Formats: sequence, structure tokens, C-alpha cells
Amino acid sequence: MILFKKSIDIQKYLELLRRKSYSIGFVPTMGALHEGHASLMRLSKAANEITIVSIFVNPLQFNDKTDYLKYPVTIENDLMMLSRLDVDVVFLPDEKDIYPDGEPAPKTYDLGSLETIMEGSSRPGHFQGVACVMDILLHIVSPTHLYLGQKDFQQVRVIQRLIDLENLPAKIIEAPLIRERSGLAMSSRNERLDASARKTAALLFEGLQYIQHNADAQSFATLKNSVIAKLQQAGFSIDYIVLADRDSLEILDDFDNTKRMILLAAVFLNGIRLIDNLRLDG
Ligand code: AMP
Repeated sequence: MILFKKSIDIQKYLELLRRKSYSIGFVPTMGALHEGHASLMRLSKAANEITIVSIFVNPLQFNDKTDYLKYPVTIENDLMMLSRLDVDVVFLPDEKDIYPDGEPAPKTYDLGSLETIMEGSSRPGHFQGVACVMDILLHIVSPTHLYLGQKDFQQVRVIQRLIDLENLPAKIIEAPLIRERSGLAMSSRNERLDASARKTAALLFEGLQYIQHNADAQSFATLKNSVIAKLQQAGFSIDYIVLADRDSLEILDDFDNTKRMILLAAVFLNGIRLIDNLRLDG
């Protein structure tokens, strides 16, 4: 495993590999790695000659600065995991390397309606920050394949849009959402939950499953209201629980079996923001 801290150095190294036409799989992360991240790396390792993982906690994508300051950092453990997984290259840049001119972001992106729904409307500026860091990272790494988790369902769409806008060659490979045994979607932010909150957090997935299992019997609004009531009673505050067409991301008022549907949710537990999603078919 080779570790680079400077974009200029990793670019030089990758230039040599590109001349050999190697396929390069790239897994961008913000660290505090868990099995969800590892699943992306395994997929990349199985399909590419070189797998590159970046760890960079991107300040631009945090609309809430406290969230940024409290974001878990576990570099030693991360490097051990990456070495165990036999990742080829790790890129660990600092802020100055990625944003030499500091904030604000050097560029804005036309992300269309992705910025006005769900994560887009709840976290103003978040997706501009994601697009910006991904634009920079993709220009540095120039991967053939980009591995992204469906845990961040809307983010995958944002990055696809960026790739289209910038005409980048990377092909996105979407990886399934990995859960803890309790059903809780794995997330770096889970590290900030104590044992009892972690147990409670699993109720979010239970709620989504409840909606899924009863979709033929009741309206989405009725099911959603009863899930919200249960979650609120357990101490959650709800940002959103929506039903959407998973191809267009159009928000749906009620179940529509002519569409491929997905439930998406964002909630707060003990001040920590958790997101999850569940496909309604297949
Ligand atoms: P992050 O470090 O949270 O920015 O995530 C880096 C990548 O790992 C993103 O593509 C995420 O969607 C993906 N990821 C995070 N958690 C999971 C999970 N539980 N299952 C699958 N992919 C995940």
C-alpha cells in the first residue's frame, strides 16, 4: 500500500499506471471507515488493477460547522483497515492541497432540482460542496471506475450529474447499502452514538420496513404518520421521510406500482443526523 499526501505526487505516480492502460478503481471517503466503506473497496479490488482510496473530510460540504468539527477522525484505524484490505494506493490530502485558495468554492455547478429536494433542501450548499470536492478529486485521480454507496442515494445522482457536466470519463459503480446486524445503516456518524442510542437508531430502518410491508394495505401518508409518531416517541426528530420515484427522484404522494419506488429518510437522534433509504421492490 502506497500513501500519498500531495496531489502532485499521486498524479505523477498515476501517470505511469495510466500509460499501462490499467483500470483504476477509486473509492472517495471521509474516513472513520467501516464495513460499508470496505464493501466498496472489495468491489473495486475485484474489478480493477489498481484501487485508490481517498480520505478527506471536506469542509465545503458541511452546512453545519459543528457537524464538521465533530466529524469522527480515526486515521490510525483507517490505515490498518486499508492495509488489511490490501488497497493499492491511499490519498490523504490536507485542506491546503485540495483548496489552495481556501474558501469559498472555486466554482458552482448546475445541479438542477437535486439541490431543492431532500438532502439538497435540508442542507443548503451541501451538494455544491460535494460536487466541488469530487470535481477536484476526479481530476487528480482520473479513475476509470468510481465506487459510490447507495446509502447516499441522492449523492450518487449529484456525482453522476457532475460527471456529465464536466464530461469526465469515470463510470460510476453503485454499491448496496450495508447495515449493522440491528438494521441500522452503517455510517461514520454512528460512532457518535452511545450504545443505547445505537439501539434506538435501528428503529429508523424498522419504520421504513413497516412502510414497505404495509404498502399494499394503507396509503403512504397514513403509514408515514404512524412511523413519524413512533420515532418521535423514541426521541428522534424528523427531517424528512419521503417516497420517491427512484429513477427520476420525483417525490410521490402515494404508492404507484407503475414506478420503481424508494423510501428516503433523514432524522436526528441526540443531535446526530442519520439518513437511510429502502427500495420498495426487488
Ligand atoms: P463517506 O465516508 O460517508 O463520505 O462515504 C464514502 C462512500 O462510502 C460513499 O460513497 C458512501 O455512500 C459509502 N458508504 C458509506 N456508508 C455506507 C454503507 N453503510 N453502505 C454502503 N456504502 C456506504
